[in-house]
Amino acid sequence: MKKKRNNPETIGLHGGEYRKDPTTNAVTVPIYRTTAYQFDNTEHAAKLFRLEEFGNIYTRIMNPTNDVLEKRLAELEGGLACLTVSSGQTASTFAVLNVAQAGDNIVSSTDLYGGTVSLFTNTLSKLGIEIRYADPVDPYNFEKLIDKNTRAFYGETLPNPYLRVFPIKEVSDIGKKYNIPLIMDNTAAPVICKPIEHGAAITIHSLTKYIGGHGTAVAGSIVDGGNFDWTADPKRQPLFNEPDPSYGDVIWGKAVPELTGANIPFAVRARVCLLRDLGSSLAPDNAFSIIQGLETCALRMKQHCENASKVVDFLSKHKEVSKVIYSTKHEKKISDRARKYLSGGNGAMVGIELKGGIEAGKKFIESLKMFYHVANIGDARSLATHPASTTHSQLNKKQLAASGVTQGYVRLCIGIEHIDDIIGDLDQALNRSTKGKLKAVS
Ligand code: PLP
Repeated sequence: MKKKRNNPETIGLHGGEYRKDPTTNAVTVPIYRTTAYQFDNTEHAAKLFRLEEFGNIYTRIMNPTNDVLEKRLAELEGGLACLTVSSGQTASTFAVLNVAQAGDNIVSSTDLYGGTVSLFTNTLSKLGIEIRYADPVDPYNFEKLIDKNTRAFYGETLPNPYLRVFPIKEVSDIGKKYNIPLIMDNTAAPVICKPIEHGAAITIHSLTKYIGGHGTAVAGSIVDGGNFDWTADPKRQPLFNEPDPSYGDVIWGKAVPELTGANIPFAVRARVCLLRDLGSSLAPDNAFSIIQGLETCALRMKQHCENASKVVDFLSKHKEVSKVIYSTKHEKKISDRARKYLSGGNGAMVGIELKGGIEAGKKFIESLKMFYHVANIGDARSLATHPASTTHSQLNKKQLAASGVTQGYVRLCIGIEHIDDIIGDLDQALNRSTKGKLKAVS
């Protein structure tokens, strides 16, 4: 048996089975720009379709470039299998649709990316899937919302704007009592957190962010931890325990472990049903870009986090800043979660509220010279965003308040530039933020 690798620096470069291209010996993973794959014979084709043998059929469902990325991501997250998809949004959509159908519900954290709130509130609820919201400050808020139709819990490891680390083990332990899997969006904390090791069943990523790291491709992934018993309570997980007429009446929870020898029905069902039907596959060109990013992700995360912690120290003492929001700067109970679940760094997102309020916030963003003003996170470059007017602008007042976005909040994603340049840019922009109208008043 292959020795298990634990070091993310090595997994990023060597994870999975790929060593060299089998036909050319190329070391860099080739982009397999092919739609279809020649079957050896009719029996071979039939076996592939019956899942009696695993192999390439059609690029909507699998591709050799994507396969290398999937194996590396599964290893990075400490899971058993992975499916890459066209975006982080697709990853969250698939993760929910793979367990829940009309009439079912999932219990989700209130601390969520704005696009996920929109997906849950608009599209998924129109499909008949109810999303119940629990404040993760108290993990038992999740338990209170469970009923017989609850199919999953959903949370984000390091959600902005609050930047409160999610109580992964506490919520997954509650889920285990009811056979409810925990799905974690780990987009903001690759390498520094492995939710599966703390009991999550599934992790998803927007690979567009830290894993890609260079702003060159939109992509998403779903990792199956292989640690959840999908058949323990058939009524709780009907999609894994009832015959599926769309695939020859297969019972996914039983058939997949029998066919593959691995407890990965979630990953297989998402691939062969959801990708088959919805088709939101990742283009192999984009998989290639993400593979390049993954090679240095561990190194970048280290630098991102080291820089962010220096920025937090600097901002905490700055005269124009009224509040600094960071994973370790909450009341003890919440900051302890950063210590418990993050290792090798505390994240690279930092929130600030300026003494001059919304006007100073806008002036500050417009005065930044090196930071980019974008609706994005996780780029190697430093980024600044005003969520109320961008990423969270489609939320109503109640949703905004629940997500913690105030009008004056500015989100900084600290990049990997030299720390002196990062602090220099922040300092000059903060000093300008009250120049003009506001300064004259004070
Ligand atoms: N999850 C989180 C935490 C995000 O920040 C984002 C995007 O910002 C997404 C999911 C969606 O990812 P994508 O933009 O790749 O669809």
